[in-house]
Amino acid sequence: MENPQEKITKISQELRCNPTSLSVAEYLDQHDEIKHLRQDFLIPKISELPPSDLSLVDGSEDCVYFVGNSLGLQPKNAKKYIDEELDKWAKMGSHGHLEGSRPWVWAEENLEDLMAKIVGAKPEEVALMNGLTVNLHLLMLSFYKPTPKRHKIILEDRAFPSDHYAVESQIRLRGFNPDDSMLLIKPREGEEMIRTEDIVSVIEREGDSVAVVMLGAVQYYTGQFFNMEAITKAGHAKGCFVGFDCAHAVGNVELRLHDWNVDFACWCTYKYVNSGAGGLAGAFIHQTHSHTVRPALVGWWGHDLKTRFQMNNELELQSGVNGFRLSNQPILLVCPLQASLEIFNKTSMKELRKKSVLLTGYLEYLIKHYYSKDESNPDKPFIKIISPSEPEERGCQLSLCFSLPIRDVFKELEKRGIACDMREPDVLRVAPVPLYNTFTDVHRFITVLGSALSACNKLQES
Ligand SMILES: *Cc1c(COP(=O)(O)O)cnc(C)c1O
Repeated sequence: MENPQEKITKISQELRCNPTSLSVAEYLDQHDEIKHLRQDFLIPKISELPPSDLSLVDGSEDCVYFVGNSLGLQPKNAKKYIDEELDKWAKMGSHGHLEGSRPWVWAEENLEDLMAKIVGAKPEEVALMNGLTVNLHLLMLSFYKPTPKRHKIILEDRAFPSDHYAVESQIRLRGFNPDDSMLLIKPREGEEMIRTEDIVSVIEREGDSVAVVMLGAVQYYTGQFFNMEAITKAGHAKGCFVGFDCAHAVGNVELRLHDWNVDFACWCTYKYVNSGAGGLAGAFIHQTHSHTVRPALVGWWGHDLKTRFQMNNELELQSGVNGFRLSNQPILLVCPLQASLEIFNKTSMKELRKKSVLLTGYLEYLIKHYYSKDESNPDKPFIKIISPSEPEERGCQLSLCFSLPIRDVFKELEKRGIACDMREPDVLRVAPVPLYNTFTDVHRFITVLGSALSACNKLQES
């Protein structure tokens, strides 16, 4: 991977300007080969953001949208595609099941190839269905079959609440006790990241009693990108199934679910994949399990499409993850997902990741330049980046801790047209997304951050 800091220094030398100058951002935007993709999205104006204070900013400007890790922006074609289906419904009613460019009966199947490319899977290993937590449950029902000897599930100590509850309830459902069966992995004392070596050593030590290892691929709070290949290998060596919640990884980092031999995975599509709140989620089951792992719960959408509508109650279950599908698909959720996946298909995860490493590296560079802790000036506000400093160990998100009260910082940023996200207890998450964010966005963020922090300082003093 190219070192962002070296690149920024080199460009500033060529331009004969300061590395922190706006010219560097403008140069990087000019040379960004995928900058045109921003035009495929609707970028909210500052004036439309409820907390903005228009006396502090020019409200006609686009906001700096750094919260694509929570809800991705709307692709321009989303509305067009939804309107097409509403029109079809109005004009031909039930004939829409089989007519038009998106026959409702198999509409999402056209998208599975595009989705599979993004997660590094074969199309038949991927299904688009339900919501993320539902898919996690359906997968766990088949992969978590505890015995008295092998009943534990490994997960992060600070897993996303939904994942934690899902795992806890799966353990109870099987008659085991979460106190004995949930094995939570923590970072070392004084550290923020969980070291791969520590995860591997827990697996090696406890593996004989572990049924499933279930981690977030990218940790939502810290932004850490786990070494999925090494963890999967360690789990398999101990006879465990290894699954990942890829909510914060899909569309953010390069995934190779198939090549890494991940057993199962699930993800939502409304974060980096921009399908809109509550969008259609994804599920992956590795090909090696396509004839051995069966769904615990079955519905008619798991039946082979060719004979699904013969209605003879003789199940012809599709193999692999497709057999896990239960209900007919919500076409209105398929539309925005299609609009987004088509944009992804204009580029590649490799290309996106290349830009992302530089974009986030640039943000990191500027934050460190302006807001490192200065021992000789203890009153100066500072920022600690808790996300890993190695680009390979993170996605686009940086998680920031401030020396000032986080709520004030967040509020002052929002007033000035920055869309980012605050997480309890004390982190601000900022995610420059390579599909639609620019280097100028990053530069603007840093400028606005300066005035937000001065305002916070004044609040403190008064
Ligand atoms: C966003 C997210 C969820 C949300 O689950 P839904 O079922 O889509 O509401 C769950 N787990 C993780 C790790 C997430 O990042």
